Amino acid sequence: DSNSILLGAREYANYLKELVNNYNLSSLVTVLETVSLGSYNGVVMHVLPDDVYYSVKSKEEVLKIVEEHLLKGRIVWDLTIQKSDIKAPEKFALKETRIVTRNIGVIDPRNIDEYIARDGYFALSKALKMTPEEVIKEIKDSGLRGRGGAGFPTGLKWEFTAKTKADQKYIVCNADEGEPGTFKDRLIMEGDPHSVIEAMIIAGYAVGATKGYIYIRGEYYNSVENLKKAIKDAYEYGFLGEDILGSGFNFDLTVRLGAGAYVCGEETALLESIEGKSGRPRLKPPYPPQSGLFGKPTVINNVETLANVPQIILNGAQWFRSIGTPNSPGTKVFCLVGDVNRRGMVELPMGVTVREVLYGFGGGVKGGRELKMVQTGGLAGTFIGPDKLDVPLDYDSMKNYGVSLGSGVILAIDDSHCVVDIALNTMEFFRHESCGKCTPCREGTRLACEILEKMTKFEATMDDLKYLEQIAILSADASFCGLGQSINVPLLSLINNFKEEFIQHIKDKY
Ligand code: SF4
Repeated sequence: DSNSILLGAREYANYLKELVNNYNLSSLVTVLETVSLGSYNGVVMHVLPDDVYYSVKSKEEVLKIVEEHLLKGRIVWDLTIQKSDIKAPEKFALKETRIVTRNIGVIDPRNIDEYIARDGYFALSKALKMTPEEVIKEIKDSGLRGRGGAGFPTGLKWEFTAKTKADQKYIVCNADEGEPGTFKDRLIMEGDPHSVIEAMIIAGYAVGATKGYIYIRGEYYNSVENLKKAIKDAYEYGFLGEDILGSGFNFDLTVRLGAGAYVCGEETALLESIEGKSGRPRLKPPYPPQSGLFGKPTVINNVETLANVPQIILNGAQWFRSIGTPNSPGTKVFCLVGDVNRRGMVELPMGVTVREVLYGFGGGVKGGRELKMVQTGGLAGTFIGPDKLDVPLDYDSMKNYGVSLGSGVILAIDDSHCVVDIALNTMEFFRHESCGKCTPCREGTRLACEILEKMTKFEATMDDLKYLEQIAILSADASFCGLGQSINVPLLSLINNFKEEFIQHIKDKY
């Protein structure tokens, strides 16, 4: 994965293969590359069947492991690490439920045979023997909902698109993942690109679409590389292209790179961008299932949503419903970031509590400090105090407890941080990412930043604080798209939870 590559994984893997060859070990040792074995100040190397984990930081260390461990069977103890110190797949087996991450860290994502060996493309084969209506019914019955944040029922989206008559329809995968702190889609695409491709072909068959686009962040170099390789292999194996597996169904797939605008995660702005226009949201309705890409009916699904589809087709809707909660079946991939002992990605059943993720996976607050607050759901999500850690995370948590699920980010913040700084940082992000199309968002984010900057200098008044709340409410009511409509959530949750601390920054507080 990208982190390991930055730490030198490719260089060490190539050197390792070279050494295995030079020492005539090829008949005994196979070098496999996978993703997300974990990180521990170096590139993680797992020697099987001995089950020894090493952390490698130089080519000399690679040489030492080959000469000592592989040639002489002597473990190089000073380079070993404990499995419990990294996020090894087995570490959270008791708690983690792997559906969309089942192949991550297990297979070589660049080898289609390894995906097939783990039942890859079996779901496609099964789906092609079903009618499109049956495929849609299975997805509807499973209760799968959009994992990008909105939580719209996936089967309904497919059904609306299937029912719209048109000469051309499209499947679009939203792989823009611009939410700060979120990296789950990147790891899914880096670690298991075929699961997304297989799901898109199934979606195409179900709704009658023959063309798909994966719209991905341009900065996701390794995901793009892995996806392109996977698409090429899928064409060669007959899973893409004409007459897929002799079914008479055709489907083509293309990767399109985004240029890094947060608003292009909004589905209609994303469509504009694929069409080569400036990435600005469209007026809705019509919705994409009626008029989407190039004015044709279009399904737009997030990476994580799609990665669930092959497993649902293979195992059935009832199996999927047996995981999670009745109204939010399945799992959610959470990205835990901030002031915790262990940051990273973990897949857990829907309904898990914030506390379980924070302490069960994250190992609690770093450096023994006090937890001040947690932001859930991404930068547009709610800030909650330590009193709300037992709230279950699912699609009802916003409605029932005012806690966002969003894209699954959980940001832990300890007591060393100032709320005004956090509010300013959040608003600066939205000011920067506002596309400028509508006044409440464009001017609202600018004015909010001005007030918060005044607060950091203790120059704001109580009227400014009231004005800040009004800006949040107005922007939520009157903005054109979800970006401006959601800035009230982080801002008002901060003000409501920490009003006293905001007042401490007011010059006329007395
Ligand atoms: Fe653009 Fe913001 Fe208006 Fe959305 S709400 S259209 S991002 S200015």
